[in-house]
Amino acid sequence: MVKGIYDLMILGTGAAGMAAAIYAGRYGLKTVIIGKMLGGATNYRGPIENYPGHIGTGQALMETFEKQAKEFGAVFVAGNVDKLAKAKSGFIASVGDKKYEGKALITALGSEHRKLGIQGEAEFAGKGVSYCATCDGNFFKGKIVSVIGGSDAAAKAAIYLSDICKKVYISYRKEKMRAEPINLQKVVERKNIEIIYNTKPVEIIGDTKVTGLKLESSVGKKLANDTLAVDGVFVEIGSTPIIEIFKGFDLKMEGGYIIVDKVGRTSVKGLYAAGDAANNPFKQTITATADGVLAAKAAYDFLKLDK
Ligand SMILES: Cc1cc2nc3c(=O)[nH]c(=O)nc-3n(C[C@H](O)[C@H](O)[C@H](O)COP(=O)(O)OP(=O)(O)OC[C@H]3O[C@@H](n4cnc5c(N)ncnc54)[C@H](O)[C@@H]3O)c2cc1C
Repeated sequence: MVKGIYDLMILGTGAAGMAAAIYAGRYGLKTVIIGKMLGGATNYRGPIENYPGHIGTGQALMETFEKQAKEFGAVFVAGNVDKLAKAKSGFIASVGDKKYEGKALITALGSEHRKLGIQGEAEFAGKGVSYCATCDGNFFKGKIVSVIGGSDAAAKAAIYLSDICKKVYISYRKEKMRAEPINLQKVVERKNIEIIYNTKPVEIIGDTKVTGLKLESSVGKKLANDTLAVDGVFVEIGSTPIIEIFKGFDLKMEGGYIIVDKVGRTSVKGLYAAGDAANNPFKQTITATADGVLAAKAAYDFLKLDK
C-alpha cells in the first residue's frame, strides 16, 4: 500500500539527497527522502578539509544537513529502496512491504566500492580486507597493512592508516599516483608509507585472517619479493554508481553513470539525478551538494511551473 503521495521523492540520504531536501522544503514541496545510511559516504571521511565553510568531520557536516532538511519539513524514511516503478503520475518506491509515491523523483544513491575480484578478497572481507580506512583502521593498530590504488582516496587512506599502523604499503599498477599534490606530499613525507609502483594484487592470503598479499608486476618484470606480509588490505580502486533499481527505465547512461543536463534532468521526464551516481565531472561532497540543489530547483520548476 502506498504510504502517501509526495510532490517530491528523494532517494539517498547523502549530501546530494539531503541538500535537495533542504531546497525542496524551502520551495514548499511535500518531500520524502529515503535512504539506508544517513550522511552517506561523507560520514566515513573523518575530517573533511575541503568543504568551504566547514571545519570538522564529514559526519558533523551531514548531521547539520539532516537537521536543516528536517527543519524544512522533509519526511525521512530509513530503509533500502528495493524496487522502483513508474506510477500514473510519478514514481513508486518500495522499501520492504511499504510503498512511497512521488510526482517527481531525485535519485541520489551515490556509488559503491569497486572490488578487486581476486582470490581471497571475498573470503577475507571483514577478516582483514576492508573498503573503508576510516571505518576499520583502528582494528589495525600497530600492524602492517597495504592500500591498493593510486587515487586521491588511496593516498588519504594511506595517510590516515599511517597514524595508526606500524607500516603502510601502497600498491599501484602505474608508475605515478594520481593523488592531489597536497596528499601526495604527505604520503612521501610519512616515513612508514612505502609505495610499490607497477604492481597489481593477484591474491589475498590468510588462514582465519589476512596474512599476506601476493603481487604481480603490471609491466612484466619479475618481482624480487612477490608476497607482502600484511595484516590488512584496504581496497581503494574507485566506485561504481548505484543504478540497479532503474532497470526497465529508459534512462540514458554514460560509462555506468546517469546522464544529466546542467540542472540534473535525466532522459526520463520528472526524474532527476544528483551526486556521485550522475555523470558530473567531479565527485565531491560540495559538488554533490550543488547537484542536489540544482535538481531540487529543476523538480520544483517541473511540478509548479510545468517547465
Ligand atoms: C575514500 C574517499 C574519500 C573522499 N574524500 C572526500 C573529501 O575529502 N572531500 C570531499 O568533498 N569528498 C570526498 N569524497 C567524495 C564524497 O564522499 C562523495 O562525492 C559524496 O559522498 C557523494 O555524495 P552523494 O550524496 O552523491 O552519495 P553518497 O554520499 O554515497 O550517498 C548516497 C546515499 O544513498 C544510500 N543508498 C544507496 N543505495 C540505496 C538504496 N537502494 N536504498 C536506500 N538508500 C540507498 C546510501 O546508503 C547513502 O546514504 C571521498 C570519497 C571517497 C571514496
